[in-house]
Amino acid sequence: MKALIAGGGIGGLTTALFLHSAGIEVEVFERAEEIRELGVGINMLPHAVKELASLGLLEALSTQGIRTRELIYANRLGQTVWQELRGIDAGLDFPQISVHRGKLLGLLHKAVVERLGPGAIRTGWQVESFRQAEGSASVEISGQGGTHTMASGDLLIGADGIHSTVRRRLFPDEGPPIWNGVMLWRGCTDWPTWRDGRTMAIAGGNQAKFVFYPIEADPARPDMRLTNWAVMAKTGIPGSSPLRREDWSRRGALTEALPFVRNRFRLDFVEPADIINATGEFYEYPNCDRDPLPRWSFGCVTLLGDAAHPMYPVGSNGASQAILDARSLMTHLRSANSVEAALGAYDVERRGQTAQIVLANRQGGPEGVIDMVEARAPDGFEDLEKIASYDEREAVVRGYASLTRLAKR
Ligand SMILES: Cc1cc2nc3c(=O)[nH]c(=O)nc-3n(C[C@H](O)[C@H](O)[C@H](O)COP(=O)(O)OP(=O)(O)OC[C@H]3O[C@@H](n4cnc5c(N)ncnc54)[C@H](O)[C@@H]3O)c2cc1C
Repeated sequence: MKALIAGGGIGGLTTALFLHSAGIEVEVFERAEEIRELGVGINMLPHAVKELASLGLLEALSTQGIRTRELIYANRLGQTVWQELRGIDAGLDFPQISVHRGKLLGLLHKAVVERLGPGAIRTGWQVESFRQAEGSASVEISGQGGTHTMASGDLLIGADGIHSTVRRRLFPDEGPPIWNGVMLWRGCTDWPTWRDGRTMAIAGGNQAKFVFYPIEADPARPDMRLTNWAVMAKTGIPGSSPLRREDWSRRGALTEALPFVRNRFRLDFVEPADIINATGEFYEYPNCDRDPLPRWSFGCVTLLGDAAHPMYPVGSNGASQAILDARSLMTHLRSANSVEAALGAYDVERRGQTAQIVLANRQGGPEGVIDMVEARAPDGFEDLEKIASYDEREAVVRGYASLTRLAKR
């Protein structure tokens, strides 16, 4: 069996590794000229780390990233609203790992080249369209200088991100991603170690939110961490078009990001404006998603990762869910009687689960606990219990965790 994969991102490369482990031949088409280690911080939840561990990548991942010990949700004044241990520190079998997205992509790329050979990833080739007939799929791909050619296999997996061409061919009337009016600025820079160097904090509700977590430790400099930050703020009307098209590599501007943090946050561990100013280059990304689809699999063609279920970046689920998709797809391909049956079973298993997360993220995900408290006590509180009881706060955070299968299994 041979699978064609459109897109060499985290979803596409993880799928390549899983399918190879099941004895399936793979050809990945990535439109970028090379697999570049782009992006800033990303979180891998324990259920996704478990799947990467099954591919033998836990050690490499742990070396690149940070095993997050604790997560703190606070209001904009730095008062703790919820705090909890994560991963192994919370009694789970696998850690939560905060890592530079580029480093994660780099280690997946290295593993694909080592295990499948350098020819398995064809960079500089963009999937333009596809056809399927009698149990086989073929893609038209375009390369530099307008070269066009075809490739064929037994199935096609569209892992080509939020602007997926495969999805657009399946659902030509869908239109662009939906913006909720929130802009996300994100960057990373060296910063003095906070607490144990393994703590993540999210402060402020949906009006303006500040995220802070370490993603890399240098043993020679224990007092410093490569630290990821993000600011999310409402800059537009939900449902309108963002000023600039969503592009993960678009540079952000200090003049646009700083007004949302100045004179707003009072955090004892960092002044947000200071870390933003200290970061040379950072990025903007409008908070976009798409409505859940009625179907992912059509014959021997299916969707995976952001192509299937782009979601707002709250709750650390974007890359984690792409990895769970990859595992599920491999399991069904290995056991079903036909490709079509496998893709159908994968669709049934994964589409509903991820749709729930897409919708929960629209409500703020677990970070909704901060919104709840800030809405009731915008100027802070003396007794948190009187503002929102422990049970009420737990229901928000744990409800989300069980939805995304973070809860202990
Ligand atoms: C450059 C970049 C930087 C990112 N940075 C961050 C970050 O800092 N933090 C974060 O939380 N998330 C980030 N993300 C998103 C995150 O990686 C995804 O949400 C998640 O990992 C799911 O991955 P995916 O493989 O489904 O999609 P993606 O990561 O978007 O990968 C899709 C891949 O498909 C390729 N592609 C697109 N169209 C075609 C086509 N027609 N033919 C062939 N190839 C195609 C793209 O070049 C890309 O490599 C970033 C994504 C990208 C592309």
